[in-house]
Amino acid sequence: MKRFALAGNPNSGKTTLFNGLTGSTAHVGNWPGVTVDKRDGVYKKCAEPISIIDLPGIYSLSPYTPEEVIARNYVLDEKPDCVINIVDATNLERNLYLTTQIMEIDVPIIIALNMMDAVEKRGDKIDAKALETKLGVPVVSISALKGAGLTELMDRAYETSKAPRKGRTVLESGALAHLITDVKIALDGQGVENPLFHAVKLAEEDELEVRAHKDTVNMVEEFKKTFKDDTFGDDFEALIADGRYKYISENFSSVITKKNKEKFASTKSDKVDRVLTHKIWGIPIFLLVLFAIFHTTFSEDFLYLGKIFGFSSLEDLGVNTEALGGKLLACFYDGAVFSPGVIINNLWNNIIVEYAFGWLVDIIAESGMSSWAIGLLNDGIIEGLKSVLSFLPWILVLFLFFSILEDSGYMARIAFILDRMFRKFGLSGRAFLPMIMGFGCSVPAMINTRTLADDKERAATVRVIPFFSCSAKLPILTAVAGAIVATFGVGNADLITYGMYLLGITSAILAVLFMRNTTLKGETPPFIMELPAYHAPQFKNLMIHLWDKAKHFIKKAFTIIVASTIVIWVLSHFSFSWAFLEDEQISESILAQLSMLVQPIFTPLGFGSQLGEFGWVFVVAAISGLIAKENVISTFATLAACLAAVASLNINGLDIEAEEGIGAVQAMINATGIGVPGLIAFIAFNMTTIPCFAAVGTAKAELMNGKSFKGTLIFWIVSSFLVAAAVYTIGSWWWTAFIWAAAIALTAWGVILYNKKAEKNK
Ligand code: GDP
Ligand code: MG
Repeated sequence: MKRFALAGNPNSGKTTLFNGLTGSTAHVGNWPGVTVDKRDGVYKKCAEPISIIDLPGIYSLSPYTPEEVIARNYVLDEKPDCVINIVDATNLERNLYLTTQIMEIDVPIIIALNMMDAVEKRGDKIDAKALETKLGVPVVSISALKGAGLTELMDRAYETSKAPRKGRTVLESGALAHLITDVKIALDGQGVENPLFHAVKLAEEDELEVRAHKDTVNMVEEFKKTFKDDTFGDDFEALIADGRYKYISENFSSVITKKNKEKFASTKSDKVDRVLTHKIWGIPIFLLVLFAIFHTTFSEDFLYLGKIFGFSSLEDLGVNTEALGGKLLACFYDGAVFSPGVIINNLWNNIIVEYAFGWLVDIIAESGMSSWAIGLLNDGIIEGLKSVLSFLPWILVLFLFFSILEDSGYMARIAFILDRMFRKFGLSGRAFLPMIMGFGCSVPAMINTRTLADDKERAATVRVIPFFSCSAKLPILTAVAGAIVATFGVGNADLITYGMYLLGITSAILAVLFMRNTTLKGETPPFIMELPAYHAPQFKNLMIHLWDKAKHFIKKAFTIIVASTIVIWVLSHFSFSWAFLEDEQISESILAQLSMLVQPIFTPLGFGSQLGEFGWVFVVAAISGLIAKENVISTFATLAACLAAVASLNINGLDIEAEEGIGAVQAMINATGIGVPGLIAFIAFNMTTIPCFAAVGTAKAELMNGKSFKGTLIFWIVSSFLVAAAVYTIGSWWWTAFIWAAAIALTAWGVILYNKKAEKNK
């Protein structure tokens, strides 16, 4: 089967074209660097089926980042029958930089001039025929988004693939051309494939090339001794890059006709960008946008209407919430109008989850099974499952917002603003892209760090990605926040969750700052990124994201989570001599006995020995979270029946029916007497500690060298203890904030001194 490879800059529409050609539904994002691995599919509308390979987006063929290596090696080694170079026509000159490099390889190419719809909308024109003549390769105008021109593109690509092609370079003039020609002839004589391409790369002193062609290097060296450019000295890499850009601007400004040259400087996007990427206001605006999202998702007093107008609660209105009408009403309103996220979540829980599982519980109760089996099924599995599933709508609503931010092009702006700030911390803005992906799931986020060129920058980023609270941690956040609001009557759930996300981000920044000045020192590579055009998010695209998310979450709930709840239930109902224990005897269980041993370690974090007899539940929950973070809450739910049984005996007869995640946490609060600082510290601990084992495995695979991986595990343990201890002590005794601040300052000072000394010794 013939193979055509799609190559182009990040965000030029490769994946959209790939999906259009192959009918698949790969992830499209208005976001450079979404595809980091190649993937393939089949196009069936030519004379024969054609395999299409979507390569990662790259700006050049110099192998700096792992993804550039993937793309370059594919084209050089796997020899596709044709390279479809997809070019973003709204940004022609910059995109052609890559084109001039691909052209040097001996492979048939065709240029897909994408986003022509956007060009036309601006009123600009691009002369594809003129471009074709100048470049000497076929050029076809398309719109991947609208599906226009795809058949013509593929038909011409098919024709093109029939004849071999010799590479050509645009660096045809000047002294450099001699060097390149000489090296090319030498390489050709040695029987090297793609001699032109390698000749240019050798002239650029590309490391990989120098190693691969040792004999030819001397020739280049000799030449270079005699050569000195006025502007670039002997920086041949810069010289060649400059040559390409000069060629492009001299030859291609004429193929574009701009409708209105003066006005071009301020398109709508530019005007919006002047506000959203403002030097000072950019970050506050972003924080405000984030808060609006959390408010809309989690607030029980939407737009603070209840506070402002002082509505009465349903009880005062005399509504019987037991009747379905009342229950339905209670999903929307209780003394305040709920935010859309809360309403959807209420509907899901009060109506769907409760009836579906209520029905199951009845069947089990009447089945005549032995009491321990009923306990395992009802208190163990079903409660655990319900507690996790009860958060599904919230997760989806939050991700809907995140997807909209991403797809509209706003997130890319944030990366751009943060680049200025990140640079001071030793990271490029590029590192922000995988971090934001971490809000979804750490696993793809860690894989995405392949877009980072510097290994140390990459390791630092992989380590802090879990601090960007993933969707599996969302149940922990919302359940604990909800329980705090319900039990202590302080704060709002939206403020607490928002605050915790910010705490995670702050911890990440501090940790990176520390690592980049100590164990992971290194230069921050430059960050080149184009701001993609703003556009309205695609409905279909959003739905694909959400559907993937929901599917993954439900599958995980019914596999890993169910299995874990069974283990927890068994360990909490048997003693070391394998005698079955009643709910009230939980303190004698294997689980309790083992975890009481480690309980004291967590005392400085606020959920250790000070919580007394049942304080170990927090330890168990945190440990079960190493399997999957959702387990933290399902473990609470599984233990809730036992603790409710004991708590109603011991503690003021409080008896909580643990129904969902929030109720489960309330049961823990009542059994242990834990306070707000301890609870917040518990969230902080789970957010910054070792992530779930899937993420740990990914980190190991991505970091490759074992030493850095061990360091990573230690890093996670240390940082979670520090962050949680800080939260707990400051929350309990505010003045300890000064001690922490002093400790941070002292550490910073020590690091600076040490680095100065090390520099001197060099
Ligand atoms: P990739 O990074 O090269 O794989 O690019 P994607 O396929 O993920 O697309 C990047 C962004 O450009 C997405 O927001 C697409 O919706 C958008 N896009 C892709 N093709 C077109 C097109 O032909 N016209 C317009 N206006 N937008 C497009
Ligand atoms: Mg892509």
